[in-house]
Amino acid sequence: MSIFAADGPSEASAATASVTDRLVDANQQYAAAFQDPGMDARPVLKVAVVACMDARIDLHRALGLALGDCHTIRNAGGVVTDDTIRSLTISQRALGTRSVVLIHHTNCGMQSITEDFRTELEAEVGQRPTWAVESFTDIDQDVRQSMTRVRTSPFLAHTDDVRGFVFDVNTGLLREITNK
Ligand SMILES: [Zn+2]
Repeated sequence: MSIFAADGPSEASAATASVTDRLVDANQQYAAAFQDPGMDARPVLKVAVVACMDARIDLHRALGLALGDCHTIRNAGGVVTDDTIRSLTISQRALGTRSVVLIHHTNCGMQSITEDFRTELEAEVGQRPTWAVESFTDIDQDVRQSMTRVRTSPFLAHTDDVRGFVFDVNTGLLREITNK
């Protein structure tokens, strides 16, 4: 039985509504009030934000961002992986961004697992993932490492404005991490 029954369009479909059905319903309401902003794809503020996927971080509200202002690149931990660099490279070279903001946060799930996660996966499914877990214990150091990966990437056109922060999920405040 769906916990979203109250929001379903009818009793019959509500009984089988998945979370995705709920999202699709919400989209229909969104689109009904939507007005084409007439924007092109280049972010107005010329900034790309790389952040953890954590559900408690509302990036746009937390940073005062409006539709069209920025690129947002999110993954587990907000870490700078090859794929993050891929997105940043396209963001800068094809879509004109110049600044990079990195946001990690307190109480991140990546602090409670270790690289053993890969070994455990291998034991369970018979195959070890090629990717690193990118878990961490020292959050400040993890932000510094992410900043360094961006600043030293040969693919990026702009590495002079790269700043890193820890978002406090209890207060909503950012704390900037400086280089050491
Ligand atoms: Zn996180």
